[in-house]
Amino acid sequence: MFDSDRDELFESMSLAGIETAIIPGVNPEGWAKQLQVAKQYSCPYGLGIHPWFCEDEPQRALEQLSEQVNACIHDPYLVAIGECGLDKIRKDNWQGQIIALEAQLSMARQLDLPVILHVVKAHSEMLAILKRYSLPRGGVIHGFYGSYEIANEYIKLGYKLGIGGLILNASAKKLKTCVAQLPLDSMLIETDSPAMTPQNSADSRNTPLILQSIIAEIANLHKKSSVLITEHTFRNSMQLFDLKLILI
Ligand SMILES: [Zn+2]
Repeated sequence: MFDSDRDELFESMSLAGIETAIIPGVNPEGWAKQLQVAKQYSCPYGLGIHPWFCEDEPQRALEQLSEQVNACIHDPYLVAIGECGLDKIRKDNWQGQIIALEAQLSMARQLDLPVILHVVKAHSEMLAILKRYSLPRGGVIHGFYGSYEIANEYIKLGYKLGIGGLILNASAKKLKTCVAQLPLDSMLIETDSPAMTPQNSADSRNTPLILQSIIAEIANLHKKSSVLITEHTFRNSMQLFDLKLILI
């Protein structure tokens, strides 16, 4: 997606004060390229199997995941298991999604890593599973879209909510109402780049450069300064992914 201008993108991110970005994994075929980009730009990363790329019988992919994670286990830039999760828009592989999710939650618990969770139209199923796998380091529900009540259920289980470009859409009323009530220590900001382009964006690809707009919108909803929101969300990411060894 960014092969032709990745250098320029990282350059403009740094000019905009964005030090780095966490790059999540999606499937065995994608890990090599992902690891290469992460290494080249010194980005922390997650390794996982995304529900869109999950087969009905994901055992082989899970073995590959376990091998890949073992190969990277001493790399301080490996900071999470994920993306993994549940997506009801892709119902055809639902059983496989559940098997893969549970295996990845076990892996995260065993390795004491947080998880990056993708949850679309499946919050009640996800909450039920998370209650069975208590992870000491929790994780983030990335690209969260839901009500305050649902967000609160995740917070009670020790998870944070990833707020992305959806918050910039004028039609996202439920999400705006939710974010306005969320405690500042429960949110991370994210791009989900290159997906989740805000509706009013001129670029068809989403890029990390929208982070400032997301911060401005959260600040507006909380009636706080952008600096305060930046400080909180930065600290939340540092804590969740334990980035101190990498960034400071
Ligand atoms: Zn996702």
